Amino acid sequence: DVTMTKGQDFSDYFLKRELLMGIYEKGFEKPSPVQEEAIPILLSGRNVLARAKNGTGKTAAFIIPCLEKTDVTKQHIQVLMLVPTRELALQTSSIVKEMGKHMNVQCMVSTGGTTLKDDIMRLYNVVHVLVGTPGRILDLADKGVADLSKCHTVIMDEADKLLSPEFQPILERLLAHCMPNRQIGLFSATFPVAVKTFKDKHIENPYEINLMDELTLRGITQYYAFVEERQKVHCLNTLFSKLEINQSIIFCNSVNRVELLAKKITELGYSCFYIHAKMQQSHRNRVFHEFRNGGTRHLVSSDLFTRGIDIQSVNVVINFDFPKTAETYLHRIGRSGRFGHLGLAINLITYDDRFNLFRIEQELGTEIKPIPRDIDRSLY
Ligand code: ADP
Ligand code: MG
Repeated sequence: DVTMTKGQDFSDYFLKRELLMGIYEKGFEKPSPVQEEAIPILLSGRNVLARAKNGTGKTAAFIIPCLEKTDVTKQHIQVLMLVPTRELALQTSSIVKEMGKHMNVQCMVSTGGTTLKDDIMRLYNVVHVLVGTPGRILDLADKGVADLSKCHTVIMDEADKLLSPEFQPILERLLAHCMPNRQIGLFSATFPVAVKTFKDKHIENPYEINLMDELTLRGITQYYAFVEERQKVHCLNTLFSKLEINQSIIFCNSVNRVELLAKKITELGYSCFYIHAKMQQSHRNRVFHEFRNGGTRHLVSSDLFTRGIDIQSVNVVINFDFPKTAETYLHRIGRSGRFGHLGLAINLITYDDRFNLFRIEQELGTEIKPIPRDIDRSLY
């Protein structure tokens, strides 16, 4: 959940008294880490890109500075909060209303799935903060009903969902309705390619907050080879003979396959250990420890690591079986820390894996290239 931090307090931001009351009445005492980072930067007027896990308080991280920047004596839309779904729009607006209740802030929700006419009627009233889904709001702006020409702040929440390629043109047109120097705050738990593309194109000089203690694929060259299931061992054998492996970890998708493959590798004449989730922890620790000490060159493994492989002498990771999810992929291949050593990741891809390969590549915003005939030795 929201982890509290010491020292900082909401009163340190010099917020309007009415806003501070709203925050405290909501039961918030101290800012969460993402709030502590995002609030002062958004207040300063700079664009922000914030990445933090779900449940860490991203909503208030943008609502608080947006409310602070809202001048309720003016009668136009000043803040636009874009979200991917109607439910989230309702939820977000109710928090705006709660936190802003002593400010007399007028917040309106506008999403698809409701009658356009109702929205048009409601826009005859004063609206300071408009929360909604992009399609409907663009509709209202194009019709000239929602005047965004004085909107100085645009928030995109759950941007990974909001910025799918088919939505990007809508967002671009929406931004064109707002003030030319509008400030953007983009919040998301993941940053797929679509978000990066949008950032590069539309968000000038953003301050980037990243609170994911994440694994990184930086420095890791990723390849795939299309194979048939029955060719996998042969393919592995070829890789062993062609690559200069310090140490390698080879992943399979089941305990059975780990044991079988370890046996085959040994039969091929290579030294190898195996480790899997059904082994006792003490046994696992021993195997891992011995591998770490260089007791063998290859380790066949199931998905039991909770963290990335930080064994520095492992320069090659092979997905003998391709994982089902991006998260597993990242845990197998990724390394923690900013200065990970170089490495090679090789994925054996069967016909059935092909869509998964593209999906995981997309989700992680990374590139997995077809394996070349000769692999540059300086890459790993
Ligand atoms: P996220 O958008 O990052 O998934 P939310 O903004 O939905 O997270 O917040 C998760 C929960 O934490 C909510 O119930 C919210 O009311 C609560 N919360 C957020 N910030 C604070 C805070 N500073 N103090 C106490 N509770 C908080
Ligand atoms: Mg959220």
